[in-house]
Amino acid sequence: MLYFDNNATTQLDPLVLQLLLPFLQDQYGNPSSAYSFGRVAAKAVATAREQVAALLRCEPSEIIFTSCGTESDNSAIQSALLVDPDRKHLVSSKVEHSAIIKHAEALARRGYEVTWLDVDSNGLIDLDELEQAIREDTAIVSLMWANNETGVLFPIEEAAEICRSKGTLFHTDAVQAVGKVDINLERLPINFLSLSGHKLHAPKGVAALYVNRRTRFNPYLLGGGQENKKRGGTENTASIVALGRASELAFAALGEESVRVKALRDRFEQGLLDTVSSVQVNGDRTRRLPNTSSLAIDGVDSEGMLMLLDQRGICCSAGSACTAGSLEPSHVLKAMGFSNDRARGSLRFSFSRFNSEAEIEQALQIIPKAVEKLRSMTRGFLAA
Ligand code: PLP
Repeated sequence: MLYFDNNATTQLDPLVLQLLLPFLQDQYGNPSSAYSFGRVAAKAVATAREQVAALLRCEPSEIIFTSCGTESDNSAIQSALLVDPDRKHLVSSKVEHSAIIKHAEALARRGYEVTWLDVDSNGLIDLDELEQAIREDTAIVSLMWANNETGVLFPIEEAAEICRSKGTLFHTDAVQAVGKVDINLERLPINFLSLSGHKLHAPKGVAALYVNRRTRFNPYLLGGGQENKKRGGTENTASIVALGRASELAFAALGEESVRVKALRDRFEQGLLDTVSSVQVNGDRTRRLPNTSSLAIDGVDSEGMLMLLDQRGICCSAGSACTAGSLEPSHVLKAMGFSNDRARGSLRFSFSRFNSEAEIEQALQIIPKAVEKLRSMTRGFLAA
């Protein structure tokens, strides 16, 4: 199998698994228990918190462990709304993940107002538009650090600075960015940041929310007072330990490994641009994650390509999703101004440090033939 869908999820790093397993076996103590068996778990959670904080260059006390990126995103927004209930306006962008969009849409149905920022054909927002969108009653601005479909990087530092100068809380959904680009929260006026374990070789179902120490926070999950009273629920010790170790490994891989992954992506992308006619890259080619390639392939439908590539052992994602029996073009590619046809002909390939040059060369043998096959089938269908 050639696994090129690392923005969907990643394989567990064997070194992470090694550390996780004892906490599913013998070390099953509850971190809140006062006896020494519980304290082993509490210590492991504390170490993981330090490891995640080191990856983001923040204080361990600024990290709250959660169950998923979606929970982190929802918690940040809910907190902002609870802290200042008179503020009923939110700002976000049209290309966010559904963890933001669906939540904001639900809030809009409950009387909140949402301003959705446009993106240009490169997938980038206009900072002037952001500045104009912020009002006296804006509770929070939420913008993703990196887009999950195109890999496009928003100008987060500038956006955060604008929010700070306007006195508005700023959240960034950095689920796709953490572990792929260097993030230094020491010098950024960011109030909240979301990350998710399964995008950086930790298990699914564990994530974190960074809350700046000077930002007031209202818990989303109320319960036993865990996570320093910021998130109720017994800690998922094994997965938290895994997220800590995965963060440490991701930090170590940010240098040379990241350059290697980018070289793999570039070789893959250029290889297809050279051998397949009418292929275009979706999104800004420089302000982009090093691991992501979103390609519009003229004359193919991405669902058909996905199935054909699946038969040939390649995993990737389509620029459309089957909703209620019809192919819905991606909201991200639509927001970039692309036609339904371009969106329906788009595929996303996303790589990781577990991919090799040999895999890229193999894929470059398979994909052009698959495109040709699908195009000739379409031509035959149209001629019939
Ligand atoms: N935000 C972005 C940008 C994502 O890509 C994802 C997952 O695909 C999420 C949020 C949600 O993360 P999780 O699957 O951990 O809930």
